[in-house]
Amino acid sequence: MSEKLVIFCAPSGSGKTTIVHYLLKNNDHLGFSISATTREKREGIEEHGKHYYFLKKEDFQDRIARNELAEWEEVYNGTYYGTLKSEIERQWKKGKTVLFDVDVKGGLNLKRTYGDKALAVFVKVPSITVLEQRLRSRGTENEENLRTRLQKVKEEMEYAPFFDEVLVNDDLEASFKKAQKLVDDFLSS
Ligand code: ADP
Ligand code: 5GP
Repeated sequence: MSEKLVIFCAPSGSGKTTIVHYLLKNNDHLGFSISATTREKREGIEEHGKHYYFLKKEDFQDRIARNELAEWEEVYNGTYYGTLKSEIERQWKKGKTVLFDVDVKGGLNLKRTYGDKALAVFVKVPSITVLEQRLRSRGTENEENLRTRLQKVKEEMEYAPFFDEVLVNDDLEASFKKAQKLVDDFLSS
């Protein structure tokens, strides 16, 4: 199989992780790109090398300097997230299409780099109110983090038109089906 990428982006709380997990569970030919980050691990939920590579800030900055990242962003003030080039290669060597859950700017940077080899999908919530409800019920953020994330949402929404596809995540089962069809159509084209 040729080396391809499928990128899911969205403001935090829109449901991209939920959709990406569904795709991974049902598609052996997809391999998740484990991002690197300097944020704190969510104890009891996340594992190093499974959800993220949790790096010290100095280590992350050294890797930027050594040009080891395909893209990176300071997604929140002082908190870096990025894709290691070695991670993309690791999945391609296994014969997988690489599946990404990255922020909006990072996703567009990957699309710019990889062009037609990449499908970039923007996941949209029906409204900001719904998004806030979902973030609150996920229960992973304190009030300050929640505010920071919600502030970013409006800015990120403006990037939707630059994506190959926009998937409105209202009814979850319907979203799973739409996501699967987007992937199938892309990989068979
Ligand atoms: P993101 O990765 O974009 O930050 P998540 O996938 O973590 O978002 O989803 C945020 C929360 O909303 C989670 O608790 C998830 O279970 C819930 N959620 C996702 N999609 C839907 C949906 N269509 N309807 C209701 N709840 C949803
Ligand atoms: P979280 O802290 O909720 O895991 O992720 C916060 C944001 O960082 C999300 O929008 C997520 O998609 C984004 N993110 C995760 N990994 C990467 C990455 O490798 N690169 C970029 N640019 N953003 C990422």
